[in-house]
Amino acid sequence: MGGDVMTIYLDNNATTALAPEVREAMLPHLFGEFANPSSPHSAGMAARRAVSEAKAQVAALIGAKPADLVMTGSATEATHAAILGALRVIEETDHHRDHIVTTAVEHPAVLALFDDLRQRGWRVSILPVNRDGLPSLVDLAAVVTEATALISMMWANNETGVLMPVEGASAIAHAHGALFHSDAVQAAGRVPVDCGIADYLTLSAHKMHGPKGVGALYVRKGAPFHALIHGHQERRRRGGTENVPGIVGFGAAASLASLWLASFRKEEADLTAFLRDRLEQGILVRWPGAVVNGAGAARLPNTSNIRFADRRGHPVEAEELLMRLDRAGIAVSMGAACSSGGNEPSHVLTAMGLSDAQAAASLRFSLSRYTTATEVDAVLSELPALHARLVVA
Ligand code: PLP
Repeated sequence: MGGDVMTIYLDNNATTALAPEVREAMLPHLFGEFANPSSPHSAGMAARRAVSEAKAQVAALIGAKPADLVMTGSATEATHAAILGALRVIEETDHHRDHIVTTAVEHPAVLALFDDLRQRGWRVSILPVNRDGLPSLVDLAAVVTEATALISMMWANNETGVLMPVEGASAIAHAHGALFHSDAVQAAGRVPVDCGIADYLTLSAHKMHGPKGVGALYVRKGAPFHALIHGHQERRRRGGTENVPGIVGFGAAASLASLWLASFRKEEADLTAFLRDRLEQGILVRWPGAVVNGAGAARLPNTSNIRFADRRGHPVEAEELLMRLDRAGIAVSMGAACSSGGNEPSHVLTAMGLSDAQAAASLRFSLSRYTTATEVDAVLSELPALHARLVVA
């Protein structure tokens, strides 16, 4: 399901196409039903009901209660609300805690915020990762103390799909009385995500075939929280008139994702993982010397980050490959959407020990539940010609 019928869209970690069912659910709220959910009349109450039902659908995806969710304008906002909201309370109630921890491979939504917090006086530890993109829990346990306020670790990495040791990290945080936040943007809807391990979880609608500009924050009942945006909405936890069509779309998208996860859990086969492996194996066979970044770690079923090399093992320019694939109607990306187009090497891949040239030789293929075997095979059929063109014999 690409932006147009000609595109084979394998950039689903950047964003996903709106599912038809999501569009249908949103339409009445974009046109006829426009009331403000805070209004006292029946149209307002209907809008309020639609928001509540959608929140219940998003909550069900992560095993939460609707009251534990705060709807936001993006996952980036949800992450800021979680971390700043928690630290604001800690500063007032537990001020001996002045230390926060995250990993070197987080999304800029977390890393840039931690940078800002460092400038504001917080002591910051950034955990390194190994060749497979995994931080060590031994390293984590060594830096966390009774002075640690919060650990933020993503559930799955957006560039490599590597699944992070969130359960262990959360246990270490809690053993020291620290709070645990996880950016579950890439994981939610693709693998089971249970809110039970976290104090705060961040979600985004547009990574699961919902609309852009809608996020959600799970806040565990009783976890410290101070609103980032003031107002009476969302039980005073996030001011601003609710984005009713967006929230309804998020609910529909979460509900479809829950069904999808339940279906492959029953059949014990995830079609996306099957197609991802077919793509990955197909590329490795057709491009000798290509390597999967993060291959040694458990990964999201939809993501493959591949480093391309020539016959002598020298990195090839992935940008050239990306452009040639684009001309063939195939959309992939070089790491994160926001960093592609710039000249900066991926901070995720360099943290994994890749050289700048190796990072610049890597492409991310990210599938969706709408990707077909025909599309995967069409990508593979382009590879021999690309290999011949880009690799000097
Ligand atoms: N966190 C991760 C891991 C992401 O991949 C993204 C999107 O690129 C975000 C956060 C930001 O999500 P949003 O676009 O909803 O702010």
